[in-house]
Amino acid sequence: MLKELCQKMFGRSLWVYHANSGGCNGCDIEVLNALTPYYDAERFGIRLVGSPRHADVMLCQGPGMRATARALRAAYEAMPAPKLVFAIGSCACGGGMWFDSYSVLGPVEKVVPVNYYILGCPPRPEAIIYGVAVALGLMEKKAAPVEFKQTELPIPRYHPEDLRRQGDLVIYEKAEKV
Ligand code: SF4
Repeated sequence: MLKELCQKMFGRSLWVYHANSGGCNGCDIEVLNALTPYYDAERFGIRLVGSPRHADVMLCQGPGMRATARALRAAYEAMPAPKLVFAIGSCACGGGMWFDSYSVLGPVEKVVPVNYYILGCPPRPEAIIYGVAVALGLMEKKAAPVEFKQTELPIPRYHPEDLRRQGDLVIYEKAEKV
């Protein structure tokens, strides 16, 4: 449903506003890299604009922060409808490694509504362009779904002195459960 709407509304041209609410600049560099002539995101009609008033899409980097939440929300509200928000990077998607820090509210969705999530720390420019293009229906999804396995706790801790070689195999004699 959202994909069809995106195709209709944004299929030919997409003006993006780049907002950093408090990331480390790693994601910013990759977003700006994606917009350089090397990766040439303009071939999909994706263009960077300097004001949220001209933007169809907001690319958010960094977690939701107490210090910047109001400014980010104001930028979002300044965008004309229809509008989309992409959370770029682990910080924007889930709060990153600072998710429970005193100055962090959590993922950026706590400040603005997020439509799409592009993971990575930072995501590569190819991943950003691919994520935006797939979300907007400009290309088909090629990646196969991945099945995640729950980590089993406690995690065994191995010590080098317990290592024993058996032919081509390396065997740990004992694993301490921590
Ligand atoms: S996801 Fe990684 S690279 Fe991006 S802002 Fe957070 S820490 Fe920096």
